Amino acid sequence: MHDLSFSRLACFFLLVALFAGGAGPVAAAPNNGKPAPIAAEADRSPAVAADIILESEASKTRFKVVLSKPVTVSAFVMERPDRVIVDLPEVAFHVPAEAGRRKAGAVASFRYGLFAPGQSRVVIDLAQTAVVSATEVSQRDDGSHLLTIELTRVEREEYRRAAAANAAATAAKASISEPELASNQDARPLIVIDPGHGGIDPGAASLIGTYEKDLVLAFAQLLKKRLDDGGRYRVVLTRDNDVFISLSDRVKFAQKRKADLFISIHADSLSGGQDVRGLTVYTRAERASDADSARLADRENKADAIAGVDAKEESNDVSDILQELTLRETRVFSHGFATNLVSSLESVARLNKNSRREAGFWVLRAHDVPSVLLELGYLSSKQDYDLLISDEWRAKATASIAAAVDRFFTTRFAKRDPAAVLP
Ligand SMILES: [Zn+2]
Repeated sequence: MHDLSFSRLACFFLLVALFAGGAGPVAAAPNNGKPAPIAAEADRSPAVAADIILESEASKTRFKVVLSKPVTVSAFVMERPDRVIVDLPEVAFHVPAEAGRRKAGAVASFRYGLFAPGQSRVVIDLAQTAVVSATEVSQRDDGSHLLTIELTRVEREEYRRAAAANAAATAAKASISEPELASNQDARPLIVIDPGHGGIDPGAASLIGTYEKDLVLAFAQLLKKRLDDGGRYRVVLTRDNDVFISLSDRVKFAQKRKADLFISIHADSLSGGQDVRGLTVYTRAERASDADSARLADRENKADAIAGVDAKEESNDVSDILQELTLRETRVFSHGFATNLVSSLESVARLNKNSRREAGFWVLRAHDVPSVLLELGYLSSKQDYDLLISDEWRAKATASIAAAVDRFFTTRFAKRDPAAVLP
C-alpha cells in the first residue's frame, strides 16, 4: 500500500512537472556531460547538506542547497499557512547555524529535518504567494551538487489552485509505517511516553537556541529508564530519535497498543513572558480552562501544519454509548493521574501558578487511553531552562513522575480488582 501511494505520488508530481513547466521530481543525475560516478550508486550513507543559499531577483526566488551527492526531490506548495514543502531522501543537514535565519524574496523563513525514517523535509514559509516553477540538481566544479528550487511569485488565485492540486497527494504521505505489533502475553500495564515534536517540527526554542524536541526526547528517555528499572511496567516511546510523527499517529500509536497511560512531554516558550515559569499538567477538555491554555493547545495542534501535513479532521463525535462510557471513565483516570502528578512534583519542581489546566490538545484525544500532557517548564525562562538541562533536576523530576505512576496504577487496579494491587 505504501508502494502504491508512492507511485501515485510520483505520477502526480510528474503531471505537476508537465503542467508547471519543469517543476516536480528530478531524478538527479550529475550532468556537465560527465558520466555518473559509479561510487555514488553503492554509497548508501545520506547526502550531506553543507549550506543553504537564497537568491532573489524580480519575481523569482531561488532556494539552493549545497549537497555532497545528488538526490531525488519533490517540491510542492500548501496553503494556510502558505508554505513550500521539499521532500528529499534522508539528508544530514550540517549547514551553518545562521542559514536558518536567512530570508529573501518570497522566503520568509525555513526549517529542515527528518520527516520519517529515511526521509527528510524542508519547509519554506512564504512571505508572498509563489509556486515551484523549477527544481534542478546540478554538479559543481568542486564535485558537490547544487539543488535549486525556483519559486515564482503568483497571484493568490493561481497559488490556491496549485495548493489544492497537491493537497490530496500529500495526505497519503502523512502516516508512519507501523511495525507489526507482536501479540503480547505480558500483563504489566503499558505506558506510552510521547516526546513532543521532532524532525522537521522543532517545537519551541530556548534563549540560546536549544530545541524543545531535543530536550523532551532526552527527558522522555530518562523517564522510560526510570520506569523500566522498577520492572512493573512496559514502557514505549512514540519516538526514540529526531523524527517527525503526526499528532494523530501519536494517538493511534497508544490506541493500537491498548496503552494504559499516555504521557506527552513538552517544554514550551512564551513570547515576552520571561517571568512566567514552572511546570504544568494538562488534560483534554473541549473548553480550555483559561486563555493561555487555549493558545498553547492551538499552537501545539498546529504541529502537523508546521511539518507540511494536513491534519485530517477526524470526527470527534463519540458514536455509541459504549464509547461514551469509555470516554467518561478515561477522563476520570486522566484527571486522577494529573492530580497525582501535580502533588508528586510539588516537592521537587517549581510549579506554574496554575499548575493544573485543561485545553483541547489534539494529542490527548484518545477516548480509551488516559492521557496527560506535561509541560516541564518554559524554555523562555532562563531558570526553567537551567533546570531542564540539569541532571539533578531531571533525576528528581523523573523519580516524582514514577512515584505518581505507581500511585495511579495502585489505585486504579485496587478499584477494579483488589487482588491485582501492585506491590
Ligand atoms: Zn510543545
